[in-house]
Amino acid sequence: DLFSVEGYGAIVTGGASGIGLGMVEALAENGARVTMMDLNSQRLEEQTARLTAAGFDVRGLRVDVSDREAVRKAFAQTAEHYGRLDCVFANAGIDPGPGFVSMTDRSQRPTEYALENYADERWDRVIQVNLNSVFYCIGEAARHMKPRNAGRIVVTTSTASVRVSPGIGAAYMAAKSGAAHLVRNAALELARYNVLVNSIAPGPFVTNIGDGFVHQPGVQEAFSSRIPLKRMASINEIKGLTLLLASGASSFITGEQIVIDGGYTQG
Ligand code: NAD
Repeated sequence: DLFSVEGYGAIVTGGASGIGLGMVEALAENGARVTMMDLNSQRLEEQTARLTAAGFDVRGLRVDVSDREAVRKAFAQTAEHYGRLDCVFANAGIDPGPGFVSMTDRSQRPTEYALENYADERWDRVIQVNLNSVFYCIGEAARHMKPRNAGRIVVTTSTASVRVSPGIGAAYMAAKSGAAHLVRNAALELARYNVLVNSIAPGPFVTNIGDGFVHQPGVQEAFSSRIPLKRMASINEIKGLTLLLASGASSFITGEQIVIDGGYTQG
């Protein structure tokens, strides 16, 4: 089967919610063994219980991906647990704060996002969680994949790394475009070890990001009106790309960023 991930040992960071959860389901439903790494213990427990009861081989580890040592330990423990590490989805990420709302109304730019006002703490946190974590996860994935001469690494970037959305602020733009280029660099370095590295750049998905701001009245309608397909994506819609990039179906794709946005970046 071209898209088979049967028996794979997989890691999905930020796997207890949203796009990451869609990735976990895609892999587990197709016979992979999946470790969700997430900061949110309650979500980890709930999703592990739900997916285990449904008969899938999943487990949850509480890991802060912005902590290099924690990533190193969790990856080593997982590779040991499965006896192999076939694919890593470095997906965990955060929104930068209130400005996310201004994506739907470009006239509304929070003044705290102006370059001269942008808080160092906000900058550091977004870079740490959305960019440094990707550097850590790619490095630790490579450590376990190179000796086996096989592996897949997939990073969740954003349409923000394709086209600037000024309302989201400087740090998110820099982190996501930095992550996209880090992926290209890693793809070149790891090609000789048959480790393929790609990124997925989602447009607006209905998830819990930004404390679930998309569930506030009017937000989904506002987003939808700016998307050529006239709706936001559900987390199930990440499953196809997940299987493509994890399986033999993408054996000649590396260093690529694949946009999944309902035409958002074209509109
Ligand atoms: P989400 O909030 O629903 O899920 C993200 C998960 O990551 C949460 O469970 C959270 O607890 C976890 N997480 C956050 N910080 C972490 C850390 N330091 N260590 C470990 N886990 C951590 O959000 P989502 O929308 O599914 O976001 C997933 C990825 O998709 C992010 O990288 C985000 O930037 C990206 N993205 C989302 C959208 C969208 O429209 N939802 C669009 C483009 C890109």
